[in-house]
Amino acid sequence: MRDILTRTVSPMRLCTHLFKSSLAFVPKCGPVRTEDLMRLKEFINKHHRLCVLTGAGISTESGIPDYRSAEVGLYARSDRRPVLYKEFCDSERIRRRYWARNFVGWPRFSSLKPNITHLILKDLEYVKNIGCIVTQNVDNLHSKAGSKKIIELHGTAFKVKCLNCDHKICRYKLQEVFQELNPSMIATTQIIRPDGDVELSQEQVEDFNVPACGNCGGILKPDIVFFGDNVPRDIVQNVKTNVESLDALLILGTSLSTFSAYRIVLQAIDAKKPIAIINIGKTRADEMINLRVEGRCGDILPKVWQLDAPNNLMR
Ligand SMILES: [Zn+2]
Repeated sequence: MRDILTRTVSPMRLCTHLFKSSLAFVPKCGPVRTEDLMRLKEFINKHHRLCVLTGAGISTESGIPDYRSAEVGLYARSDRRPVLYKEFCDSERIRRRYWARNFVGWPRFSSLKPNITHLILKDLEYVKNIGCIVTQNVDNLHSKAGSKKIIELHGTAFKVKCLNCDHKICRYKLQEVFQELNPSMIATTQIIRPDGDVELSQEQVEDFNVPACGNCGGILKPDIVFFGDNVPRDIVQNVKTNVESLDALLILGTSLSTFSAYRIVLQAIDAKKPIAIINIGKTRADEMINLRVEGRCGDILPKVWQLDAPNNLMR
């Protein structure tokens, strides 16, 4: 029987997406070891129902910077920090600044495309090798790639909800409302942050008009779990159920700095599930897992697949 990985991505499609890959926000890393590739291939083929946990490290190749990477991450390149949940709820000034930046960054952020890692994961789901993808990313790229079994651990930037009545609206729709309320503001930028945020002048921020909830007049907030907020209990439970019912945990592109992600590793260890990680740099769970591969997901996953390519072509 052919391995799962021989049935995934066609070589032509692979080359096209590698060519388009952007490395501006990817931290430096050395070449992946052949031994690691073999071990990873064995891990993926051995465990036919994977729970995959993804982080910002897989979206950097689509042009979205992460927060923590050395030299290229947001924290390394500026002194800006993401808005905290309490700040957003308590301060109209902070909400106005947040939404003004978000409005300008939205066209570019919302148009970014999935990369080879997202596409391989989608194909692995299609051949039933992946039971679910738990993502910390709010960029919608797994969904754009075509994956279906996605749990958005930290919510999504593509929906907006009312803090008062829980009414939800599509982020694209809110963009139209912003544009009507702020006709002189131009929504375009080349600079982007992990949650779609950009830099603006004080005047631009102060003049920006933010709508209230159309249903009850409450405060609108992106449907993202901000720093300082908790992941909703139903999502935590859904993740737990999936980790317990699936064969193994494959972690891609995350240092596991946030507890909500690290907790999933602890659950997997508790349930005696094998765990593998691909990441550039150290992670919080390096000493606790079965296999750790250092490197870029968009480099490693296609190579794991290509290990079987000659056999594939002969069939
Ligand atoms: Zn409302």
